[in-house]
Amino acid sequence: MIGLFPFGSEVIPSLSHEPTIMKFGGTSVEDARAFLRVSRIIAAHVRADDEEGEARPVIVVVSAMSRMTDALVASVQAATSGDVEGARRGLEEHFARHHAVARDLLSASGRVAAEAVIESARDEIAEGLRAVAAHKLPRLLLQDEIISYGERLSATLLAHVLCESGLAARYVDARRLILTNDEYGCAAPLFDETERSTRAGLEPLIERREVAVLGGFIAASATTARTTTLGRGGSDCTAAIIGAAMDAREIQIWTDVNGVLTADPQLVPRARTVERLSYAEAAELAYFGAKVLHPKTIQPAIDQCIPVRICNSRAPEETGTLVGAETETAPRTVKAIAHKRDVTVVQITAARMLGAYGFLRALFEVFDRHRTVVDVVTTSEVSVSLTLDDASALSSILRDLRDLGTVLVEPRRATICVVGEGLRDTPGVAARVFNTISDINVSLISLGASSVNLTFVVDEARLTEAVTRLHEAFFEERQFQNDNAKVSLAASDTSL
Ligand code: ASP
Ligand code: MG
Repeated sequence: MIGLFPFGSEVIPSLSHEPTIMKFGGTSVEDARAFLRVSRIIAAHVRADDEEGEARPVIVVVSAMSRMTDALVASVQAATSGDVEGARRGLEEHFARHHAVARDLLSASGRVAAEAVIESARDEIAEGLRAVAAHKLPRLLLQDEIISYGERLSATLLAHVLCESGLAARYVDARRLILTNDEYGCAAPLFDETERSTRAGLEPLIERREVAVLGGFIAASATTARTTTLGRGGSDCTAAIIGAAMDAREIQIWTDVNGVLTADPQLVPRARTVERLSYAEAAELAYFGAKVLHPKTIQPAIDQCIPVRICNSRAPEETGTLVGAETETAPRTVKAIAHKRDVTVVQITAARMLGAYGFLRALFEVFDRHRTVVDVVTTSEVSVSLTLDDASALSSILRDLRDLGTVLVEPRRATICVVGEGLRDTPGVAARVFNTISDINVSLISLGASSVNLTFVVDEARLTEAVTRLHEAFFEERQFQNDNAKVSLAASDTSL
């Protein structure tokens, strides 16, 4: 020990250089009030260590102001069909929104600087739109350049707002940090190059305790240095990439909900925030439309086991949901109930499936041909049941399936997915689920493909009832109290 740390404890590497990544989505910066809210949240985090006189290292990633990316994409579409004037006009209200933020929140010098950036963006975008109309370069390449202004402007404004609040903050062009391939519109990051440039770009700021503010979603091609984007909604991905490159202590995704809830509050008003989830649980929930992280977007964070916290910028005092590598089991195993409406169940029965190989391949080739995603699948000796979220190609799919066997379709179904680490190995959970809804017909069940979920299908008309009852059975106070009472009773029994 002594040999390892000859100069005493101060040389033990401290956590203080590991930054927190704070990512804010478009609705968190929709107007001046929202910008102010965000700047207070960031300042509170940076100054939390003030007693020791040291600011916490923070890197901020921000989306474009809400609706800005859509407006920019629409302007590119208008320009493609030759209407450059219309394309430009459509953006005016959005430039006005940016100007309003600068006017409302910045003092004279900051305002002059920010307004200059907004005005040159307007000119450069106009130039870009003319190039789109002239069809000289590939449209997606020009589009990435044009839509990147959404994030560039919001991040520039936020950096100014932070400076006004007394923080040392600096706009950093994310295109210098995140390097990708050339797939415009949906580029893939090149991790080694990105890690190198990100560290080189951000470490000096961390050292000086300056808050780096960068636009999410935007990057640059490693070969051509042209602007690329990471696909719609890509700012979460930026946060994960930067977090992984910088060994972040935590990535915070600030949005407008209180983290992940135990169920959809529209069905279950008493739904509450789930405090902790494993990555696997979050992935299952995301797939089921829970309004959170898409697992694909945070993969770099998962690879490095960096915890991801989902917080509400309208209720920063709430702790939100922490998604991490730990796989703890909830007292009742179930952590959340997700669902999906408007699901179609298709059942194919074919005697020739019995003991034959190649049948499933032939079956899935049908869905492959019609580019239709199959969701839940169960099989018996002579039949296969599966669900489709998107039944738009159903009639042609059915035509092909009938060559394989008898086909039955059940429209207007809903999938319910009960999620919890340890579900596969805990006796009694499935029994409890199906006892709770024993009078509701279940038309398909899948358990065990992942160890964290139990998925089944009910008639959509019974969805609300089913989810409400399950929520009561697994989460609601009265039930918990009863259980706790039983537990303490049992405990006092043994002590007697
Ligand atoms: N502004 C981009 C979009 O609207 C990226 C993001 O918000 O994550 O898709
Ligand atoms: Mg988003």
